[in-house]
Parts: sequence; C-alpha cells; structure tokens
Amino acid sequence: MADYPDLVVVGAGLFGLTVAQQAVEKAGVRVRIIDVRDHIGGNAYSYMDEETGAEIHKYGAHLFHTSNRRVWEYVNRFTSFTNYVHRVHATHDGVVYPLPINLGTINQFFHAALTPAEAKALIEQQAGELAGTDPENLNDKGIQLIGRPLYEAFIKNYTGKQWQTDPAELPADIIKRLPVRFNYDNRYFKDTWEGLPTDGYTAWFERMIDDPRIEVSLGVDFFDESQPYNKKALTEAGVPVVYTGAPDRYFDYALGDLQWRTVDFKEVRYAEDDHLGCPVMNYSDADVPYTRAIEFKNFNPERRESQNHEKTVVWQEYSRFARRGDEPYYPVNTPADKELYQRYADLAALEKNVVFGGRLGTYRYYDMHQVIDSALDAYEQRIAPMLAANARD
Ligand code: FAD
Ligand code: UDP
Repeated sequence: MADYPDLVVVGAGLFGLTVAQQAVEKAGVRVRIIDVRDHIGGNAYSYMDEETGAEIHKYGAHLFHTSNRRVWEYVNRFTSFTNYVHRVHATHDGVVYPLPINLGTINQFFHAALTPAEAKALIEQQAGELAGTDPENLNDKGIQLIGRPLYEAFIKNYTGKQWQTDPAELPADIIKRLPVRFNYDNRYFKDTWEGLPTDGYTAWFERMIDDPRIEVSLGVDFFDESQPYNKKALTEAGVPVVYTGAPDRYFDYALGDLQWRTVDFKEVRYAEDDHLGCPVMNYSDADVPYTRAIEFKNFNPERRESQNHEKTVVWQEYSRFARRGDEPYYPVNTPADKELYQRYADLAALEKNVVFGGRLGTYRYYDMHQVIDSALDAYEQRIAPMLAANARD
C-alpha cells in the first residue's frame, strides 16, 4: 500500500496552496498537492516571455485586489506588491472611453459637461423603467445601474460575447462587480488594496509551499487510477482530501453537466514598444469577435529597464462554452445551473473525508482574494476538524 500523506490536495491553485500552507503551519501534517497541469498556481499562474520581457498570465489577466485585511496580511507574508492600479479602457463605435462607467465615460458618450448631480439625474431618468425594483438578473440590473443607452453601448454586446447567454438569465452579481461612479475616478476596482506581486505570481506561490512537509506532483490527474493519488485509492484508504476541481466531474457527471465558460487566447506579436497604450482594452461592440485585448508588458511599468522596447505581445480573449475536457473558467450560474450545483453540493456534503473548495469546487465566480478567504475559513471550519478526526482513528 502506498505511504499516504496526512492530506492530499487536488489542485495547486490558490485554494489548494492556501489550505496546504495552513495545514502544515497549524497542524504540522504532511501534505501532497497534485495537479493535472505542469505548473502550480492554477489559473493565476504566469511565466516570463523571453522575447519581450513581459510576464504573461497564462489563463488571462490576473490583478490582485482586496478590502479584506486578513487576506491582505496573509498574502503579504509571501510577496510584496507593486503599486499598479488597474485601469481599463473600452472601444465603442470607433471611440475609446474610460471604464468602469464614470463621469468621464458619461460626458464623453453624451458629448456633455454634466456635473455629478446632473449625470445622476440623467441616468435616473434613463433607468426610470426599473426604478424602485431590485433586479436579480444582469439585464435589468445593468439598465437600472446606468440606464438603457449606456447599457446598450458598453454592456449588452460585451456581455453577449462573454457569456452567450440571455442577460435576463444571468445573475445580477456579475454586473455588480463593476462600480458606477459619478466622478472622474476610473480605478477599475473599489478595493482598499491592489497591486501585482513584485517578483511575479509564480515566485509568490512557490514561497507559500516552501516547506519540506509539502510535496507536489504535477501532471497528475485525480481520476487517473494508474497513479497513487487517485480518487478510488484515496477513498478506500480513508485519506483526507481537499478537492478543488469541478464537482460534476468528481461525480462522473451523474446528475448532468454544469455550464462553464472557457476562454481561448490568440497571441499577436508586434514590432512596437507599446501597441495598446494601456494594459487592457475592452471591445464593447459585436463586430470585434473577442472581448478584450491584454498587453502584458504594460502591467509592469516598473520593469521597463528589462523589457524589450522594440517588441510587444498582446493576447486577444475569445470566450465560449466549455465542453468536457476544456478548462472550465467561469461558472455560468443560470437558475438551472444553480439548482444542479445545489444537488451536487448535497452529494459532496455526504463524501466522508473530502472537502470541496475553490472557484471550481464550489461553482462560484470568485476572485483570488475571495478564494484565499474561503480557504482560510475552510481550513478552520472543515479541514482542521477532518485532520484531527483522522489522526484519532
Ligand atoms: P484554480 O486556480 O482553477 O485551480 C484549480 C486547480 O485544480 C487547477 O490548477 C486544475 O488544473 C486543478 N485540477 C482540477 N481538476 C483536477 C484533477 N482532476 N486532477 C488534478 N488537478 C486538478 N481573480 C482576481 O482576483 N483578479 C483577476 O484579475 C482575475 N482574473 C481572472 C481572469 C480569468 C480569465 C479567470 C478565469 C479568472 C480570473 N480570476 C481573477 C479568478 C482567479 O483565477 C481565481 O479566483 C483563482 O485562481 C481560483 O483559485 P482556485 O484554487 O479556486 O482554482
Ligand atoms: N462587462 C461588460 N462590459 C465591459 C466589462 C464588463 O459588459 O466592458 C460585464 C460582463 O458581463 C462581465 C462582467 O461585467 O462578465 C464583469 O466584468 P469583469 O471585468 O469583472 O470580468 P472578468 O475580469 O472577471 O472577466
């Protein structure tokens, strides 16, 4: 029989890394992390591009932001952050606007010089059809927040490309992520702290698990019974498991498939120092088939000295429904998905010695800081008791 560790963590993303770090620090146990990919960091993984000196975020742009002091203090144990402040622009009808929607966007769009109070009054009037309601779907929430003309210009088609789902079927939470401001503040996030890890994401993640009691096996699939850390063998041996993969996959799709969105990236290289003039450009209209373009060099202006000034790399993001075997990125979360997820969650709760967590494991549209927060909670509330019970057995 294999010499199993005290805990097996399936998935080396931020949820898995956080619980592994906590288990070693707080309970002194031995942990094995497995991941089917050939690197740690999950979707937040990045690597250096030799040609341009850009740090490429392999699964799409990742910007760290939080207002949660516990999470901010925790992450600062492993990395410092640059003073990068995220700002996004949007191209609509051949004109570039600032996002998120703020007084600059509103005045540029209406060719006006409205004061904050005047802009608010205008938007209220344009959102009048939904006044006094508390919409639960993205379409109505979007119109209520910014009025129909701005909704149709900046949200409707972008959301159409991103989700390919009727916005009336999508949860309002998706759009509530974006602030709407009646001043010229164009910070994309409204959080207290934000920045990018000074030495890159991978250096941060490596420091989290820099302990001889944590071992990592890459290129290993939990469902592959030819390797020792597989579902069947671990269940039979009663080894505690933290599972951060998709719940429908865990149960072999017994109740049906949850809907996920995935993203395909098209890389374009330019013989220019700077192609977009900013890190992220959103394309609001339906005639551009991708949602946004990312110019990675521009996330790290503090590294300018070591970057190539004659070449740059841009990634265009194409969003589509994930099929089985694709990377599941965004939970779609229609009412039918939510119901199905709840049935999987009920099954998950019956699994002895297994804790489900993370963006995939709980089918939630979580940012990194939310994943870390939920991992710290999960460790205290569910994983530590599971380890203690197994130690007694
Ligand atoms: P993941 O990072 O998905 O890790 C899960 C891991 O489990 C993966 O590495 C996977 O390979 C592994 N796994 C799954 N199944 C198996 C199996 N059967 N066997 C072995 N291993 C398995 N958050 C922000 O805060 N800011 C951002 O700007 C931001 N941008 C994003 C952009 C995109 C395009 C996406 C998709 C997400 C973005 N996020 C952002 C969210 C962020 O990626 C997540 O919150 C976080 O990385 C989730 O961590 P996790 O550990 O839950 O999951
Ligand atoms: N959104 C939009 N237009 C934009 C940016 C965002 O309609 O220019 C909507 C879209 O539905 C998107 C959601 O707001 O899915 C959240 O945007 P965010 O930039 O937070 O998405 P993420 O970075 O997670 O893909």
